[in-house]
Amino acid sequence: MRGMLSFNLLGLKEGINPLEIKLSGELPLFRQLDVDLAGTGTLSGTIDKRDDNLYLLHLSLRVPVYFACRRCLETFVEEVRSDFTVVAMRRGSRDDEGFGEEDVILLEPKKNELHLEEYAREFFLLNLPSFPLCREDCRGICAGCGADLNKNNCSCVG
Ligand SMILES: [Zn+2]
Ligand SMILES: [Zn+2]
Repeated sequence: MRGMLSFNLLGLKEGINPLEIKLSGELPLFRQLDVDLAGTGTLSGTIDKRDDNLYLLHLSLRVPVYFACRRCLETFVEEVRSDFTVVAMRRGSRDDEGFGEEDVILLEPKKNELHLEEYAREFFLLNLPSFPLCREDCRGICAGCGADLNKNNCSCVG
């Protein structure tokens, strides 16, 4: 089954086309990831259609996620933000020179469906914090008395 992150390029006009897609947690994009979504995500940006064979996508993926702070274990919500650029090019239509740094999607001749699911997933994973903290200076929990040092003073002596 196709995800919501596929769309047809045929309907686009030449030049800049705005894009905004709401992302529910049901999407395959989020399947089997160990993340707890805190709301609806958004994929927004623009598709710049140069001609029938070349499309430049500047996209921003924003997804609110629940994290457990690694120091104090409090749950908090943070928006995971990934900005990425993708070039979609018809296979064999031109030299791919100059696009080496970016991700290039090769469109098969006569195919106009663009699938962004796996790109979005990849960039989302890249931008997940590996050591989430509720705040930069979280003081964590005392290993001795278990006090949440953000809220209480530690009662340990020595
Ligand atoms: Zn914390
Ligand atoms: Zn203590």
